[in-house]
Amino acid sequence: MSTLNIEQKLLTPNKYSRPQIPLKSVTKIAVHYVGNPNTSAIANRNYFESQKTARRYVSSHFIIGLQGEIIQCIPLDEISYCTNKANVYSVSIECCHPDSTGKFIDATERSLAELCAYLLEKFRLGTGDIIRHYDVTGKQCPLYWSPTKYQSAEVANARFEAFKSKVAALMKGDKQYEAAESGGSFGVKVLGSALNIRKYPSLTAPIVGVITDNGVYTVIAEEYGGSVLWGKLKSGAGWISLGSKYVQKIREGN
Ligand SMILES: [Zn+2]
Repeated sequence: MSTLNIEQKLLTPNKYSRPQIPLKSVTKIAVHYVGNPNTSAIANRNYFESQKTARRYVSSHFIIGLQGEIIQCIPLDEISYCTNKANVYSVSIECCHPDSTGKFIDATERSLAELCAYLLEKFRLGTGDIIRHYDVTGKQCPLYWSPTKYQSAEVANARFEAFKSKVAALMKGDKQYEAAESGGSFGVKVLGSALNIRKYPSLTAPIVGVITDNGVYTVIAEEYGGSVLWGKLKSGAGWISLGSKYVQKIREGN
């Protein structure tokens, strides 16, 4: 993973901006613009915080500032009041912007792409699950990625698609871990009496086989899934844990 620096400045629980309603399952990542040019991430976070007395139902899980800083306002297992009917199934991200065009500057967009990649991997979603506020309600948000009198739907959609391509590139890059220090495949000896083979590198992935023969297997790629390092079997059968409890790495040529 690239280093993602998230500053936790959680809102005080209150019925208007942090109602602590459980967010049971996340299927979309919703992107917004703050609509208030040249304001900072912390100022927008404090605006949400002030709703505990100002009493508007408004908030967001994350706000990304003009230097690319990321502030988290709401935990990922609670809903925010940001994306109307999508609040119950989405994580929301507000982005700051320098002027009234609503165009994000590079630092902001870069952090947005990294945060989206991180969240999509966390919730096992794809770039097609990034949505605009516009897609939910037709609101021109984020403004620069929505059809307006300044830009056609084609132009707005192309901008949004270009952003999603950047996220896809980041996700691909994260997964291209070098296989072994030799830059190639390596052998592992299976230690336990039964080692599960998973469909993809995650403890929640379906089990597609079990190794029971304490044999030597060839691994052609490594990848982190959760906190576990996984190895892709050369046979194409799937992925096994490379934990030292389960396998012993053997030298090339063995
Ligand atoms: Zn919005």
